[in-house]
Amino acid sequence: MTETDTQPLIFEFTGNRLCLDFTNTIHDRAGTPRELLRSYSDLLAWGKQAHLLTEAEAQRLGQKANRHKTEAEAVLREAIALRETIYHICEAIATGTAPTESDLNAFNDMLAHVMTHACLQPQGNDFIWEWRHKEHTLDSILWPVVRSAADVLTSEDRENVRVCAADDCNWLFLDTSKNHSRRWCDMKSCGNRAKVRKHYSHKKQPAT
Ligand SMILES: [Zn+2]
Repeated sequence: MTETDTQPLIFEFTGNRLCLDFTNTIHDRAGTPRELLRSYSDLLAWGKQAHLLTEAEAQRLGQKANRHKTEAEAVLREAIALRETIYHICEAIATGTAPTESDLNAFNDMLAHVMTHACLQPQGNDFIWEWRHKEHTLDSILWPVVRSAADVLTSEDRENVRVCAADDCNWLFLDTSKNHSRRWCDMKSCGNRAKVRKHYSHKKQPAT
């Protein structure tokens, strides 16, 4: 069966950090890329599966998006631009190179915007980060993603961001394994593919 725009996608969350999972909303980055965020409702589906939105919140945003189609399309474009910016910065970090100034500027512009919505909310004796007006703002789904990226980049997590070793994948993940030896975004898919390929290349007979 082929995928249609109406079929809800099942996203994968193998990145160990929200911002890295968000960069993995495109398949086979280094091969023949397949976009998974094809509409604003895909973005909402991702938000629900990432536990950023409840069903009711997603419904409210979906209804608003239906009333403001141009705005929703703009948010989708913004989401993809943000995703690529975070990807470029994290991929640079993971491969030991410096992120470009234009990526950092783009990220910081977004961060400045997002932080205007940030607030602290008491929870018991503690405070937690919350977001003002999140239920009425179409791009609110991106705010926690931006904060997650800022957290990764300003913490020790930065050292453990990795790019999946499978040729065509290039998904990002945080290596939380004990000896920092995780190589694939997902052992079941990319890890197995690599193993199978290695197995066959070992079996290949030299040409006569
Ligand atoms: Zn992979």
